Amino acid sequence: MIVVASLEQAEAMLHAGQLDCPGCAGALSSHGHGRTRTVRGIGSARVILRPRRARCRACAATHVLLPAELVLRRADTVEAIGTALAAKARGDGHRTIAARLGRPVSTVRRWLRRARGSHAGWLQEQAVQHAFRTDPDVLNRRLPWPTPLGDALNLLAAAALACQRRWDSTLPAWTLIGMFTHGRLLPPPESPLRT
Ligand SMILES: [Zn+2]
Repeated sequence: MIVVASLEQAEAMLHAGQLDCPGCAGALSSHGHGRTRTVRGIGSARVILRPRRARCRACAATHVLLPAELVLRRADTVEAIGTALAAKARGDGHRTIAARLGRPVSTVRRWLRRARGSHAGWLQEQAVQHAFRTDPDVLNRRLPWPTPLGDALNLLAAAALACQRRWDSTLPAWTLIGMFTHGRLLPPPESPLRT
């Protein structure tokens, strides 16, 4: 799986032979599509997606391209899941968050559980790395947060804003956060697709 800023950009790069195989650094070429699916965003927003497959011209490995606005094997966007996690970091409970986002309580509770512990620590590491690469000053201005999840989300947001400024990027902050976290704002579920 390769996380890409957008499928349109990835398509152009594939045609130009500019997308490299993560296994051997050979050039990737188009290799069909996966099944079309619908992913839920904030409110009634929906993303209809036809996943693109690519194949390495050198080692023949196939890879799926995941747009950075999505989370690997989740039916909700980075923005939807991230909004829930950010609300949790501010102290909201899972019932309040579920009602606000229009999601089942059980779904939101599962997201919040999966974001705790070692995963929050991993998110912090990604945040620190990307903040450092984009603008180390973000780390100097870092405010203390009571939880690792809150610290991680705060830093990820600051790194995304710094990235937008530095590279004049029009990519939404949540999409950049999807790139920083390699499609794993939440760890992928064990079953193929969970909400
Ligand atoms: Zn390869």
